[in-house]
Amino acid sequence: MAEAKLIDGKVHATALRARVGKGVAELVSAKCVKPGLATVLVGGDPASQVYVKSKSRAAAELGMTSFDHRLPESTTEQELLQLIATLNTDTTVHGILVQLPLPKHIHTERVLQAVNPDKDVDGFHPMNVGRLGSIAAGLPLDFPVPCTPLGCSMLLADALGSLSGRNAVVVGRSTLVGRPVAQLLLRADCTVTITHSRTRDLPAVCRAADILVVAIGKPAFVRGDWIKPGAAVIDVGINRVPAGDGKTRLVGDVAFDEARQVAGYLTPVPGGVGPMTVACLMYNTWQEARRKTGLPFAAV
Ligand code: NAP
Repeated sequence: MAEAKLIDGKVHATALRARVGKGVAELVSAKCVKPGLATVLVGGDPASQVYVKSKSRAAAELGMTSFDHRLPESTTEQELLQLIATLNTDTTVHGILVQLPLPKHIHTERVLQAVNPDKDVDGFHPMNVGRLGSIAAGLPLDFPVPCTPLGCSMLLADALGSLSGRNAVVVGRSTLVGRPVAQLLLRADCTVTITHSRTRDLPAVCRAADILVVAIGKPAFVRGDWIKPGAAVIDVGINRVPAGDGKTRLVGDVAFDEARQVAGYLTPVPGGVGPMTVACLMYNTWQEARRKTGLPFAAV
């Protein structure tokens, strides 16, 4: 059997960013509205700093305004809620991103619920979670959808075309990735199984998948002989592992070299799902700015 076709997330993300950049320019010239993304980072977690920086930079590159709020670790929940209340009413801000994880003394759910659902470009507000959970098959996603799951569904649609009727297995049931991915696949008319750490005989469940999405955070956990020949495999995992000489490297949740011999399509790590996450955040911010001006949802 031929090796899996690699799904190049960087190429897809570049194309999506270009589309968003064009859309932003059109919005500015037609409606004099410049999309604005507010990023909020509490504390000095190095990984979070890198993520937030790349999001702000991407917004600026696409012609959006980026409002960066860096708050000290000692920020109280009340102070953070006050900032969010201000951003909620600021008409130049169309998207609010609160970088997770928040420090332990801050109640994450309370903060996410405080974000105006129409500016919730991460798609984590309960109203948007509910919208995704109740959407009928095929209807437009005219509300913010979590970025990584949205990126996964875009990559699958580009690789496979129609997903209708395919068996999809999602490994992992987090609210960040597994559950919204499953909802998106259901909306695309897949027959969806969600698995987790208590699933019995996970390899056998995976072997039935035409589409296998893995998001568990365990390096090279899914082996080649768990994969149905020709299946499309989306590896969401990002794990840092030792690479010898005191160095480290990133690997996914799927044993890449094994999967490559069996799958029909496969996302590499890095360079697969990862680049789509920031591109989808830009997409969500642009869509929210469009909506604010009364324009309809623009499918890409
Ligand atoms: P999470 O919140 O820790 O959830 C992990 C899920 O995996 C849980 O549902 C857990 O099951 C399940 N799981 C753990 N061990 C398992 C096992 N042995 N068999 C089956 N299921 C198992 O993780 P997450 O936030 O979804 O992230 C998952 C991975 O994706 C991480 O590597 C993360 O870094 C990566 N990620 C990447 C991006 C990106 O942009 N590419 C974005 C977000 C996350 P239970 O519910 O039963 O505990």
